[in-house]
Amino acid sequence: MAKKRICVIGAGPSGLAQLRAFQSAAEQGAEIPEIVCYEAQSDWGGLWNYTWRTGVDDNGFPCHGSMYRYLWSNGPKEGLEFADYTFDEHFGKEIASYPPREVLFDYIKGRVEKADVRDWIRFDNYVRDVSYDSGRAKFTVTARDTAKDVETVEEYDHVIVASGHFSTPNVPYYPGFESYNGRILHAHDFRDAREFQDKDILIMGSSYSAEDIGSQCWKYGCRSIISSHRSGPMGYKWPDNWDEAPAVDHVEGKTVHFVDGTSREVDAIILCTGYKHHFPFLPDDLRLKTANRLAAADLYKGVVYVPNPALFYLGMQDQWFTFNMFDAQAWWVRDCIMGKIALPDAATMEADWKQREADEDALEDDYACIRYQGDYVEELIAETDYPSFDVEAACQAFYEWKKHKKKDIMAFRNYGYVSPMTGKKAPAHHTPWVDALDDSLEAYLQSPKQAQPA
Ligand code: NAP
Repeated sequence: MAKKRICVIGAGPSGLAQLRAFQSAAEQGAEIPEIVCYEAQSDWGGLWNYTWRTGVDDNGFPCHGSMYRYLWSNGPKEGLEFADYTFDEHFGKEIASYPPREVLFDYIKGRVEKADVRDWIRFDNYVRDVSYDSGRAKFTVTARDTAKDVETVEEYDHVIVASGHFSTPNVPYYPGFESYNGRILHAHDFRDAREFQDKDILIMGSSYSAEDIGSQCWKYGCRSIISSHRSGPMGYKWPDNWDEAPAVDHVEGKTVHFVDGTSREVDAIILCTGYKHHFPFLPDDLRLKTANRLAAADLYKGVVYVPNPALFYLGMQDQWFTFNMFDAQAWWVRDCIMGKIALPDAATMEADWKQREADEDALEDDYACIRYQGDYVEELIAETDYPSFDVEAACQAFYEWKKHKKKDIMAFRNYGYVSPMTGKKAPAHHTPWVDALDDSLEAYLQSPKQAQPA
């Protein structure tokens, strides 16, 4: 019988988890299907493959990157550590809990370099179309190879969509935007906080991008921040030059008017207004339509697309857990494709995601949400041979992280947490986050002694 052919779309953290999952089965002697991973960019890492570009990439397609130059992890690394490849193994020593993006990128790369799966990836390949022939039970995938400037059309038994959902910005309109006398940009296009040095800025939104981009701008010397919220303030103890305001009503010249009648003149408006699940390469009958939530609609076990169970999605949930959750999903999808896990009937699969949604809706606070996603990760790894790990310890790291943020939003990155894999507590970073202006890999990995000023 011919080998099954599997298409993975995207070589970011979730797509790479899928490659590692199959490679791990091969390593143990299993005969695995043929895997082809399409990656639009010329290197792996997805969002972690930092680009200074905004707008379109060097092939004219929408720029995937949403990361900024000085981004550090906004959650503890102990909450995302791979169970089969620890930070200690990669760096050969213990490192602090909130690595900058370059350090995390290095870690992600380390595991797949070790697994030797780079040859499975077709770089510079932008998937343009996917269709399904139910009679033959085959997907047809059309991709543009931008390096060779040719189009390929190939058939697969399964498609795994791992293209992420933090790349297509949700850009709201407020009256007066068209005649605003300053710069309006979305978080997706934010690259360098130094651009806003000595500027007064408005941050729109009250979630992670708002909190982190505002903090970046503050750290690199903006003059003042006002952050506006629709559904309640972030409520941290902000520095003196950072205020919170209710929703924007309209803008006039350089003045932003809020719904409570107050106003503020600002030089720039940064829309930290979230992202859209966007799959321009998928027809309606294959396209996931879900809100950004912990229990994504239409996905059995959070990964199987119920209207067509030959199609899988990875990492489409909103996330507390990230890399290790993608692993749990990837191992589970692998076993499903390799016939080790059987799918129930459509009604049972539909009942599964609806129950997950109802359970999520009943959660009372962030702590319960963290536990809920931890339970999901535990559920999946119990059904595969992904190395079991102390999910409770990962949850504890998240709980402590939340408390540290409440205590001091500009200092939470100075704490260390216990690794769920090694049981060891991370050392404090050699320099407090507010003072660590050089966040290169080399600077981050210096020992405390080396990092001391001369
Ligand atoms: P998000 O969590 O989806 O939040 C979107 C925000 O936009 C919410 O506050 C929402 O307000 C607001 N919003 C949406 N539409 C709006 C509108 N029309 N007018 C006003 N406000 C509107 O998106 P995100 O903050 O960009 O975070 C996305 C992901 O990126 C998260 O997983 C986060 O952890 C990650 N991230 C990581 C880092 C880091 O590692 N350093 C930094 C930034 C982001 P409502 O609540 O009222 O809907």
